[in-house]
Amino acid sequence: MTLSVQQHRLSLSMALCLLLAACSGPQDVRESRFIMGTLVQFTVAGVEKDKALDAIRAAADEMQRIEDDFTIYGTHANAVKAFNASTPGQTVSLPAGVDDLLRMARDVAHQSGGAFSPVIGSLSLLWGFSLPEAPASPPSDDAIARARSGSDIGKLVMAQAGWKRLSNQTMLDFGAIAKGYAIDRGIDVLKKHGIANAILDAGGDLRMIGDHQGKPWRIGLRHPRKPGATLGWFEASGDISIVTSGDYERFFIYQGRRYQHILDPATGMPAGLSSSATVITAANATLADAWSTALFVLGEKGVPLVGAQGMQALLVDADGVLHQSKLTLLPFHPSTQ
Ligand code: ADP
Ligand code: MG
Repeated sequence: MTLSVQQHRLSLSMALCLLLAACSGPQDVRESRFIMGTLVQFTVAGVEKDKALDAIRAAADEMQRIEDDFTIYGTHANAVKAFNASTPGQTVSLPAGVDDLLRMARDVAHQSGGAFSPVIGSLSLLWGFSLPEAPASPPSDDAIARARSGSDIGKLVMAQAGWKRLSNQTMLDFGAIAKGYAIDRGIDVLKKHGIANAILDAGGDLRMIGDHQGKPWRIGLRHPRKPGATLGWFEASGDISIVTSGDYERFFIYQGRRYQHILDPATGMPAGLSSSATVITAANATLADAWSTALFVLGEKGVPLVGAQGMQALLVDADGVLHQSKLTLLPFHPSTQ
């Protein structure tokens, strides 16, 4: 008799569990991978764990391939490094993926008046923010002037059968756009695996699809000067990219001055007008990534320019003042702390 009461209780509580599971759906699956020098976080909602993990594994592999194909660092040979070592004036044909991304990057370079430049490689290598050994002091003025001489988009020429660089100081650097591109490719892979609800967050550069258990995803925007704090948040569902370029991750302080990794191609120096530049768009993370870097360089005057591209801009300038574009895709909710 006692036994049957216990059995009854057991089956009741099991039924309750199943009911709850059916109501709330499968748990979110969260995974992190270190790719492109940053912690990439995958969050997948609404599917069984095994299916989510398979999709995440494939997406992470694809993103790693993009890093290998586009990086100018390390010893792995790729077409970008080969171009950067090519004889100036000689036409080099680039693989389709690199060619496509370079065309997109060149367009943003022109639209942003040169604030974004995909041929900033000499300057990036000279400053060395992405090298394994972080720099502690700025390079010499002469070295900056020499590297800067190759960094204008006009020094890159598209020819019939490929591309040519006009100076040996003209080197490709996809550092400001490849992460967004990798996010887009990662999202494509997730979708191909039947994932409809996910966030792919590569260190503050993210794209989301779908929603979170029928409710909008909630995304915090990091405070550029208060570690661990948020500036505010967005709520969104559907396909949206939110990409931020900031001065708080790769920088050094030398003689009381902050030197950070986003460079102004016009001066060869770290851009000094912004501390955080966010671009929001329904287009894709590639464009949002390129434009967030351009916005960071341009500062406040870049805000209407991003708006005119059909994207939303949110800029914290060097004095900590927030500027927003008139065009609003997602309302921004400032934090109250
Ligand atoms: P993060 O890498 O922090 O997401 P960005 O997307 O803004 O930031 O990319 C910064 C990287 O882009 C730098 O490390 C450098 O490789 C490259 N870069 C720096 N300044 C520029 C620029 N003005 N235009 C294009 N690329 C840049
Ligand atoms: Mg960028």
